[in-house]
This record gives sequence, C-alpha cells and structure tokens, in this order.
Amino acid sequence: MDKNFPILVVDDDVVSRTVVQKYLLKAGFEVLCAGNGKEAMSIFNKRFCPIVLTDWMMPEITGPQLCRMIRETKTESYVFIILITSRDSKTDIVSGLEAGADDYLTKPIHQAELIARIKTGIRILNLEQSLKSANDEIRLLSITDPLTGCYNRTYLGEQFPQELIRSQRYHHPLAVVLVDLDHFKKVNDTYGHQAGDLVLKNIAKCIIGQIREKVDWVVRYGGEEFLIILPETDCAGATTMAERVREAVSKITIEIVDARIRVTASFGGAAFHFAQKDGPEISMEDLVKKADEQLYISKREGRNRANVIEIIPCGE
Ligand code: GH3
Ligand code: MG
Ligand code: MG
Repeated sequence: MDKNFPILVVDDDVVSRTVVQKYLLKAGFEVLCAGNGKEAMSIFNKRFCPIVLTDWMMPEITGPQLCRMIRETKTESYVFIILITSRDSKTDIVSGLEAGADDYLTKPIHQAELIARIKTGIRILNLEQSLKSANDEIRLLSITDPLTGCYNRTYLGEQFPQELIRSQRYHHPLAVVLVDLDHFKKVNDTYGHQAGDLVLKNIAKCIIGQIREKVDWVVRYGGEEFLIILPETDCAGATTMAERVREAVSKITIEIVDARIRVTASFGGAAFHFAQKDGPEISMEDLVKKADEQLYISKREGRNRANVIEIIPCGE
C-alpha cells in the first residue's frame, strides 16, 4: 500500500485536528477530516479509509465508541485505528485498545512519532494485503485445472448447486454441454503428449472465448473432456452455443515445430427448464448423464457434431 488512500482524522478540537492534518499532508498523505464521530462514520461509509486517527474525548460519540462502530462495519480490508489521547494512564490505554484501537498517541502530537505510527499501520495493512493475495492465489489454484485454466471438478461440485438453486428460484432454464475431443488419442500418438497438452490448452482457450463472460463457465471434466455450464439457457440456446463452439474448435490450427494440428470435438447437451415453483427438480448428475447420452449419439453419428436434448420431467 502506498500513499494513495485517505487517512481519516477525527477530532472535535479544530486546532489539534488541523495540526495532525498539516503533519500528514506534509508527509504526502491524503487527509479527510471529521469534527465528530457521526460525521466520521458518514465520511467513512462513503469513502473507505484504511487508517483512522481519532481523538478520545469527543462529545456524543467518543473515540473508543467510534472504534467499536468501525469494527462493526463490514469493510473491504482491515482498518488501522490510532486513538489520540491526552490520557496516558495504563487503564485508559487498555480500554482504548480493547475497544478495537490498534495503537495510541498522546497529545501533544509529536510529528515524527505520528508518521512513524502511521507507517506501522501501513506495514500491517500491506501484510494483510499480501496474505489476502496469497489466499486468493491458493483458492484459485484449488478450483482450477493447472493445464487449461478451466475450473476443476471441485469447483463444479461447489458451484453447480448454486446454479440449480438460482434457476429454480427464478424459474429459468439451465443447460450443460459436454465436449469431447475427437480421436484425441491419435493426436498424442502422432505428435507426442506435450503437443497433446498444447492442443488441450488451445481448445480450452477457444471454448472460453466463445461463451458469455461472467455468466457461462467451463470445467475440465476429464482428460480431453470439458463441461460448459450455461445458466439461463434453454435447449435452442444451448444448441446454438454448442454449434458455435464446435465450429470454432474445428477451425483452429495448433502449430508445433514440424506440424500444424487440427482437431474436432463432439458435443452433447441437456437443458432443463425450472418452469414453476415447487415443480420437478433435477440433479447435476442427471443433467450431465443426459448430456453424456447426447455426446455418445454425436460420436456414433460420426463425430464433429452436436446434439442437445430438452429434458421433460416425468409426469409432464
Ligand atoms: P473419441 O473420439 O472416441 O473421443 O476418441 P479419443 O481418442 O479422444 O478417446 P479416448 O478416450 O480413447 O482417448 C482420450 C485420450 O485423451 C487418451 C489420453 O491419453 C488423452 N488425454 C487425456 N488427458 C490428457 C492430457 O492431460 N494431456 C494429453 N496430452 N492427453 C490427454
Ligand atoms: Mg473422452
Ligand atoms: Mg475423445
């Protein structure tokens, strides 16, 4: 974290507030000021300030009370709070820290000490940021396939039930399309496994390039099999999508040192419409099983084709 964030200074005393503001501005920080706790919360809710300096003694909302209010607010990252106090008895300091303050400064404010404490805060905020990034990275690694970058089966198991719930709640259709590369074993046998991997990578990229961003998603379902999840998509929509991806896949060429590889894929899809409230339900397994049956038909019919079925629940 650099200095591109505002520090919120809260003090009912204009003179001491201005002094702190001046010191911070001189050190290159952006500063927002509030004359009381209410004003501070209103500013804080409009613009996130990861560092807050607050006076202890203020009418209505005291510094420790403000600390508690900030801690109860859901924030995008940690807020480092420094209490400014003319009190320096140990019990006061303890109660300030217990209210959620991270540090304290005693009046009169010493310029160098103020900046040093702010820097401590920045170090802690940076640490939190790097921990968050590391966690995000680990999370991403745990839900994606390293070769293709597609989601993995773990993510499918986590996320698909959410798609089912959403479709059911809004009575929308939901479709899945299975993609299986044609005669892919031959690609490996002819050009080697490494070339095969490169083909898989390119095919995944091609599929991802064809789907609706942030709506549809792709799972590497098996070795050379992908599953496309199409929310809000009925049988006709899934057929159009499968045809589009099929055509795109058949057109790409993967260049290796001594050859240009072309592949095709077969598609099998299944769409389900959650037509009414408390209507028939379907499981992920059923939907994928139906898609797999269609894929089998596409293979049998000669490959490089798509078949999608509309699932009509029993009794309808
Ligand atoms: P079909 O048209 O019937 O689907 O024929 P196919 O050869 O694609 O099907 P098969 O299931 O016989 O072979 C799948 C091949 O995919 C065999 C396997 O070595 C290859 N494969 C699976 N995962 C990977 C991978 O991660 N990298 C590479 N290079 N090949 C893979
Ligand atoms: Mg296969
Ligand atoms: Mg195959």
